[in-house]
Amino acid sequence: MDENLIFRLRLRRLCGWLLFLLVASSEWLFAASDRAWSVQYEPKALVNGSPVLFRVEASAAVTSLQGTWAERTFDFRFGPSCKCWFAIAGVDLATKPGKYTLELKGSTKDNAALSQNDEILVREKQYPLSTVTIPPAYVQPPPEVQARVEEEQALKKKLFGELAPEALWAGRFQAPVATGVSGGFGAVRVVNGVKGNPHQGTDYHAKVGTTVRASNYGKVLLARNLYFEGNCVMIDHGQGLVTIYMHLSKIKVQEGQAVAKGQLLGMSGNTGRSTGPHLHFAVRWQGSYLDPRTLLTIIPPGREPSPPKKAGTKAAKK
Ligand SMILES: [Zn+2]
Repeated sequence: MDENLIFRLRLRRLCGWLLFLLVASSEWLFAASDRAWSVQYEPKALVNGSPVLFRVEASAAVTSLQGTWAERTFDFRFGPSCKCWFAIAGVDLATKPGKYTLELKGSTKDNAALSQNDEILVREKQYPLSTVTIPPAYVQPPPEVQARVEEEQALKKKLFGELAPEALWAGRFQAPVATGVSGGFGAVRVVNGVKGNPHQGTDYHAKVGTTVRASNYGKVLLARNLYFEGNCVMIDHGQGLVTIYMHLSKIKVQEGQAVAKGQLLGMSGNTGRSTGPHLHFAVRWQGSYLDPRTLLTIIPPGREPSPPKKAGTKAAKK
């Protein structure tokens, strides 16, 4: 046989092998990158007391995704616009700095289980001291209101245990009033000269009668007068997330009512354990109070839902 022909045949065989190896390795690479889910979070630097938006780009086969973070479990929802899964969670104020694991568990339509763990750094934030003077009856409630305080604690515990399992919120959370902040979240309170608990919300300057609006879509969990909170509205945003509006002069919503983002909830005031007219705005996630102002900076994926159509449109008249 012609030596040149043998050489050409060997070369062709070698090229075939190289092509096979190239295709096989690229398929393996593709499969590996398909399995590795990309995890992002906002804000970029997590601290004790911070709410967090987790965003996961999982493999296309995933049809549901659940996260476990700080020993609490929550469901992700899928955003068609970002083709990603997202959920709001939080870092408790008492969390020590260090690395914490976000455990992700996905399942496919064939009920196959997929999982991934990611280590996420939580940095330490030092909150300032703040001195407040409160009427003694709101520091140590007198015996005649003891039963009322206990009843209200039991009611809040019951309500926090009955939150909507599905997310009711959509898009960014907005400030409940258009005024400046008078007291920050997390400040260690020195109440009447005694070191007390950290401040669990953000205080806004608000003279009595300022309109207070819902931070996001949800359902009114509580709308009544409480001993410490005064006239109080709580909105259930689903999946353990609640916003709370305290010390109101007037309440304009009813328990069980669905509310839209920006909807009037009531008028600010000076009721309950209050040091003067202001709005105390709090954010609670699965038992932890979180910094409301950080929540307001988070930009969740997806478009805002369009507002519900008004009755009396052409379609409604048909
Ligand atoms: Zn406050």
